[in-house]
Amino acid sequence: MKRLVIILSITCIACFNVSAKSFSYHDDKTKRGDDKKAKTKGDDTTKFIVNNENIFDSEEESPDTNQILFPSHDLYASWDTLMAHPYNFSECFKVDSVVIQLTENGDGGFVMPFSGGLTSVFGWRKYRPHYGTDIDLETGDQVVSAFDGMVRLAKYCQGYGNCVIVRHNNGLETVYGHLSKLLVEPGQTLTAGTLIGLGGNTGRSSGSHLHLEFRYLGQALDTEDFIDYAKGELKTNCFTLRKLDVENKYDLRALHSRHKKDVGYARSGSKGAKYSGLAKGGVYFVRRGDNLGAIARRNHTTVKSLCKKNHIKETSILQLGQKLKI
Ligand SMILES: [Zn+2]
Repeated sequence: MKRLVIILSITCIACFNVSAKSFSYHDDKTKRGDDKKAKTKGDDTTKFIVNNENIFDSEEESPDTNQILFPSHDLYASWDTLMAHPYNFSECFKVDSVVIQLTENGDGGFVMPFSGGLTSVFGWRKYRPHYGTDIDLETGDQVVSAFDGMVRLAKYCQGYGNCVIVRHNNGLETVYGHLSKLLVEPGQTLTAGTLIGLGGNTGRSSGSHLHLEFRYLGQALDTEDFIDYAKGELKTNCFTLRKLDVENKYDLRALHSRHKKDVGYARSGSKGAKYSGLAKGGVYFVRRGDNLGAIARRNHTTVKSLCKKNHIKETSILQLGQKLKI
C-alpha cells in the first residue's frame, strides 16, 4: 500500500474562498470564529503531518504537495488541527440552502456514537448556548464516529475537554466532547463506527456524558434534526440546510439577543413604549397573557397553521418564553 507523508506548514485557519483544489495556510489571528475559548499557544507555524492512504488514488496522480484533498476541501479550503471552530458560517455560506447527503452508496452509513439517554438538548441554557446534545454514559464507555470521515482535531479544548472533531465528505463536522481518552489523531481516516475515544467528564462537564455536536461551516445544528435518538438511526438521508433555518433556529446567540430585546421591549411597555406582539424573523416568544388565537391574529396567520408548524395542539398550554414559528 502506498503511503504518502506530506508535511505542511499550517498557519491559516480562517475560512476563505478558493476556486482551485489546493490549500494554503496563513496565520490570521483576527478571525478565530466564535470559539474564543480554544486558543492556540501562539505558534505561527505548526507542522501537520498527513499520513494517509486514501488521499490520492495512485502514485501517478500524486500532485505536488500544495494539492491535498481533505474531506470537503472545496467548501472549507482550510484544515485546522488546533482550533475547534475557526470557520465563520455567515462569511462562508453564500447560498440560500444546501443539501447535505448524509450517507451515500459505498459509505459506511451512520452509527450512533453512543446509545444512551439524552440528558440535555440543543438550545439556550440559562447563561449560554448549548450547541450539542448530551448523551448519558459512564466514563470508559466506547464512543465511535457517526460517519466516515477524517479526524481534523483530537486534543483538549477548554469547555469540550478531550475532544475529537471529524470532518466528513459532505461538509458536516461532528464533535465529540468530554472524553476521558482520545484514541485517534488528526489526519486519520475513519469509517462510521470507528472507535475514537472513551467517554468521560473532562472540560466543562458535571458528570460523565458525551457532548455531541453537528456543525456545518462552523455553524452548530441541532443533532435531533438529524438523528432519531429513540430509534438510534438517521431521520433522513438527505438534510437540507437553509439560511433561514440558521437565522430562526440554530443561531442561538442571535436568537437569544433578539428574545432579550423583545422582553426588554415588553417590559418597557408599562413606561410607554409599545409592544407589537409581532414575530421577528419568523419567530415569536410567548408572553404573559398570550394565547394561540391572539398570537395568530396579530401575526396574520391561523391557529391551525401555528399548531402544524410548532407540532402543538390547539389545546396545548403555552409556556412563558416558548418559541413559536410563525
Ligand atoms: Zn453538552
